[in-house]
Amino acid sequence: CGIVGYVGHRDALNILIKGLERLEYRGYDSAGISLIDQDDVKVFKCKGKVADLKKQIDNKDTKGTTGIGHTRWATHGAPNDANAHPHYSSDSNLAMVHNGIIENYEALKSQLIEKGHVFHSDTDTEVFIHFIEQVQKDNNCDLDEAVRIALNEVVGAYAIVITQKDKPGQLVAARKGSPLVIGVGEKEFFLASDATPIVEYTKDVVYIKDEEVVLLKDGNMTITDVKNQVQTPYLQTLELEL
Ligand code: GLU
Repeated sequence: CGIVGYVGHRDALNILIKGLERLEYRGYDSAGISLIDQDDVKVFKCKGKVADLKKQIDNKDTKGTTGIGHTRWATHGAPNDANAHPHYSSDSNLAMVHNGIIENYEALKSQLIEKGHVFHSDTDTEVFIHFIEQVQKDNNCDLDEAVRIALNEVVGAYAIVITQKDKPGQLVAARKGSPLVIGVGEKEFFLASDATPIVEYTKDVVYIKDEEVVLLKDGNMTITDVKNQVQTPYLQTLELEL
């Protein structure tokens, strides 16, 4: 029920964990994070609280300046370790966090199983990331383009953030119905479901609109609609204090 993300020059771990703690008030049953470091993807996730996640992470290699985090409120599939986010596909090396519900996930899942996709969870989210992966393969395109194409066929509500293993320094995000805010720093970006995890780093934020796709890459932000029309970000200065 909460999403965080970071891409920039700092170690992502503490920003993600702190961010998840700030979102705990929204309620959740599982928590997880994923980090990209050079050519390596790390995923830590579990049923339970952010405190349980921290125990799992303790003493592990957590390097990485790009990452995503999630607190889950289960809608499809029981609260357990496998269903916790991020969902990661080892074929495409995409990892995704998602808040919301994909209503047509069963139809998409059958199509994907026929094409050879293997699922390790009961969630609509895992179907969603495999669908994006398949679209990217079919169109041989960049991830943000695959997300735009996929979103035209996905029915439901979502806020998503996706990492790609061979693209450290990049996050792709989108939303419809579920909230997503981007904090804009100096060549770094903070993403979250609301501004509470962001304000300690920056007061400059962009509230992503429904059906917008955001590409954060090498310190730059590009926002498009699902038809690939470039949108001008509306930068707001928060007056919120912690
Ligand atoms: N529908 C997804 C799931 O059950 C996301 C739930 C959420 O918004 O936390 O895993």
